[in-house]
Amino acid sequence: MELEERLNEVRDRIRKAALATGRDADAVTLVAVSKTFDADAIRPAIAAGQRVFGENRVQEAQGKWPGLRDETPDLKLHLIGPLQSNKAAEAVALFDVIETVDREKIARAIAAEIERQGRRPRLYVQVNTGLEEQKAGIAPDDAALFVAFCRSELGLEIEGLMCIPPVDENPGPHFALLAKLAKEAGVERLSMGMSGDYETAIAFGATSVRVGSAIFGSR
Ligand SMILES: *Cc1c(COP(=O)(O)O)cnc(C)c1O
Repeated sequence: MELEERLNEVRDRIRKAALATGRDADAVTLVAVSKTFDADAIRPAIAAGQRVFGENRVQEAQGKWPGLRDETPDLKLHLIGPLQSNKAAEAVALFDVIETVDREKIARAIAAEIERQGRRPRLYVQVNTGLEEQKAGIAPDDAALFVAFCRSELGLEIEGLMCIPPVDENPGPHFALLAKLAKEAGVERLSMGMSGDYETAIAFGATSVRVGSAIFGSR
């Protein structure tokens, strides 16, 4: 299958899953995860109308997206990988959405860069729903308080929560937990679901899904 066919199939399934939950067909944003793929591999997705992309490394994204943006100015870029505070300046300068705010230090660094650059990416708090040691994200019990801290102490507009469920577990309970935490924290948007489980995530209320290999092929 060509990339455009795979992309269209994912779009179709997203629309169907959204309709099945009683939402509009276009209620769920597809974030096409292009990590490890170079500009030449990404261009066919842009040509097929895809405008929202996800990358997990700041440096890798810096290497390919400024050029692609010159060609297509209305692209939106999401950071979906862990952020170190020494990369906050680059991240705020490059990304439209940072989905991985997960601790006070990085929230402070982002706030300082927003102040300095006058550029205001949209922000999500990443939650480690499986409490996995190797995984980034704030603990579920601390999520609502952390969102409140980001808002009131740092003036950050947190618009949603993001999670990556443990690979070896049924993702449904993790998606349900994220939806519950979002309600408690008073945020509207939920970034959850990847190639293997995005329809399930939509059933649990995802407002955006991050799909890589189902579009670009295996990495
Ligand atoms: C790589 C990645 C994805 C996409 O994974 P696929 O299984 O290829 O769809 C989604 N979210 C995050 C945070 C990722 O790092």
